[in-house]
Amino acid sequence: MATIIDGKKTALEIRNDLKEKIARLKIFPKLAVVLAGDDEASKIYVKNKQKAAFEVGIETILYTFDNVVTQGQLETLIDDLNNDADVNGILIHLPLPKHINAQKLLNKVCPLKDVDGFHPFNIGLLQNGDINATIAATPKGVLRLIKQTKIDLVGKNALVIGRSNIVGKPMSMLLLNENCTVTIAHSKTSDLRSLCQNADIVVSATGCPRLVKADWLKKGAVVIDVGICRDESGKLCGDVDFDKALEVASYITPVPGGVGPMTIAMLLENVVDAYLKQHQQ
Ligand code: NAP
Repeated sequence: MATIIDGKKTALEIRNDLKEKIARLKIFPKLAVVLAGDDEASKIYVKNKQKAAFEVGIETILYTFDNVVTQGQLETLIDDLNNDADVNGILIHLPLPKHINAQKLLNKVCPLKDVDGFHPFNIGLLQNGDINATIAATPKGVLRLIKQTKIDLVGKNALVIGRSNIVGKPMSMLLLNENCTVTIAHSKTSDLRSLCQNADIVVSATGCPRLVKADWLKKGAVVIDVGICRDESGKLCGDVDFDKALEVASYITPVPGGVGPMTIAMLLENVVDAYLKQHQQ
């Protein structure tokens, strides 16, 4: 049976460490959160992030806009936040209303305040393997969980399923920087099963419920499930057929309680790092 990687526990440890660090250094990091639109789920996500930030000692300031907000209004806000020395991090909650050019807005965020790691400057640093890159919270959290298993990553075959800018692509770059041999799969990939069978590490981020079957996995594979899905009965599940994969994998993350809690912890860590970088200069 696989060891279940407890992301909730690790995330809590990271948050406790951050709380202690903020108190010890007597710093007051501040995160600006931009929320546009009327999506109820987004409001809950943002509230949870604000609560987690408050608990470690990060102040948040929320800017909300309704669905008819203009690109110009949002860009003006980003300019103001970039120029506000008291603001250390800017988080633009995605998705934005459809008429907003999200990438154009993300590109306006000062790279030092880009706690999401979505700015092309930070993506470029990551690609260069530069330790100063701010790395997107979810893939950063996934790598932390993989490293926690203490497996030697060098030369391992890693399969990343999904090629989004926020998970799949940065994840594959992180694993490449760790000297894994990385394959990236996506919806047009012709034989996902055989790619899985060859993978020592599988990171799946598709949102397709139980896409990855247990008999696709190599015996002893490390399996990280980023997906947050609902199955046909409405039950929360991941991309991986968890119950059966438990018998094949060496390590596996559950959904919920795996990658999800790490994403928030890594965001908070990015805010503290942003504060420290801004005050070094
Ligand atoms: P996304 O932008 O929709 O990307 C999904 C990716 O999966 C795409 O690259 C897509 O391929 C690929 N894909 C879809 N169906 C596939 C299939 N049958 N076989 C292989 N690849 C397939 O989603 P995302 O933002 O990366 O998020 C992915 C999942 O992770 C979602 O369930 C999301 O809720 C979850 N998530 C969780 C966290 C967390 O903190 N736990 C954070 C972020 C996201 P194409 O590029 O060809 O379309």
